[in-house]
Amino acid sequence: MDLTYPAVTDTFRAKINTFLDDNLPDGWAGIGAVPAAERYDFQMDWRRTLKANSLLAANWPAEYGGGGLTHLEMVVMYEEFAKRGVPTSGPNDGFSISMVGNTILHWGSDEQKAHYIPRILDGTDIWCQGYSEPDSGSDLANLGCKAVLDGDEWVVNGQKIWTSSGHTANMIFVLARTDQDVTKHAGISFLLMSMEQPGVEIRPITNIVRQDHFNEVFFTDARCPKDNVLGGVNNGWAVGNTLLGFERGVGATVQSLGFRAELDQFIELARDNGKLDDPMVRQDIAYFHTCVEIMRYRGMQALTRFLKGQAPGPESSIGKLFWSEYHLKITEAAMNVAGMKATIGFGDEDARGLGPPAIGTENTVPNWMASFMIARPGTIYAGTSQVQRNIVGERVLGLPKEPRADSGTWKESQANYS
Ligand SMILES: Cc1cc2nc3c(=O)[nH]c(=O)nc-3n(C[C@H](O)[C@H](O)[C@H](O)COP(=O)(O)OP(=O)(O)OC[C@H]3O[C@@H](n4cnc5c(N)ncnc54)[C@H](O)[C@@H]3O)c2cc1C
Repeated sequence: MDLTYPAVTDTFRAKINTFLDDNLPDGWAGIGAVPAAERYDFQMDWRRTLKANSLLAANWPAEYGGGGLTHLEMVVMYEEFAKRGVPTSGPNDGFSISMVGNTILHWGSDEQKAHYIPRILDGTDIWCQGYSEPDSGSDLANLGCKAVLDGDEWVVNGQKIWTSSGHTANMIFVLARTDQDVTKHAGISFLLMSMEQPGVEIRPITNIVRQDHFNEVFFTDARCPKDNVLGGVNNGWAVGNTLLGFERGVGATVQSLGFRAELDQFIELARDNGKLDDPMVRQDIAYFHTCVEIMRYRGMQALTRFLKGQAPGPESSIGKLFWSEYHLKITEAAMNVAGMKATIGFGDEDARGLGPPAIGTENTVPNWMASFMIARPGTIYAGTSQVQRNIVGERVLGLPKEPRADSGTWKESQANYS
């Protein structure tokens, strides 16, 4: 693990700060301070500014329209952006750039890279994730959404659920069953599909803080070209896991900065509510400080791997487990500090993600209340805490695998369920 940056990064750091000084609006206080109604449009405009300055998908190869930065430069950029609460991408780019874009760069054919990567960068394609189904969430490999070849096209039938931002996307990456007569992991393919076709129906699900965040997606004879398989037919489990590594590992290098800012807000909240001398609250603060420092050091570890060009592996589950469980604790402690005031309703829920709030978010009890609610699904999405523990136990620590209830082919296992 490296704890210092080479001196050469100082020049680049200064360059990034000049860019921010020149391009951020006057009085910039962080994306959380942009009024909620204007935030989406601001982020779309900002995305265009990043693209025009070769800072969108900053480490992607320039030949595909990426920024062409080295890994080290990209981390420096992320750090400086995070310190000022500036987004490094647009609203849906977690799916488009971080997940499917990186996975296409890793697994895609030259034709797929040449077709999809520029379309992601110029905003033509906005992606969402079609993994979970009503009967396969944690046990993702059990998925039953089927794709069958019909001439030059796959015909897809089945249902996905919890599809975040599915209503704003025009493309979906789908894990589909393409062979029922092999074991469940062996018969899955990773398909790149258009959402804009008659066979795709999207039904919204409103979450507990009133956000229309995710959806059900139904496929009825939906189609995609035969060549829209990423990483080869029936190799979807490996491809899908590469993507999950990006999903779980993303942002680890700068994540602690957001949690540090949130902890500072917690301390202010305790002060404002006359609880700063409460020994239990002080004990909480000491514990939270320790956790944020652990995240900082884990960020350094992730950075070291990243700089060596290593894709995130199963160890990214440690970070996902740690921050999401930590976030439950600090938001619950905030509710205790706020006392009865914590019953007055939600604030700016859109500024509070599953992780720490956007920098600049007002430090109010209703905002903490929204954070308290939104922290819960942080321990569920991208693999629940229990599943992360299994991954850490089995794939990082090498402990014996837990017993599997199913065996044989996927089709046989379905007969056992019914
Ligand atoms: C905010 C949010 C956004 C999401 N966005 C998307 C998205 O965009 N696309 C998408 O495809 N999915 C998405 N999901 C779905 C998410 O991936 C699933 O909810 C998750 O994988 C868990 O699956 P499940 O809900 O079916 O729960 P289940 O798998 O039914 O689990 C129920 C409970 O059983 C426990 N459990 C299950 N198996 C084990 C085991 N082997 N050992 C111990 N305990 C176990 C779980 O930990 C959990 O507590 C999202 C979820 C959330 C909360």
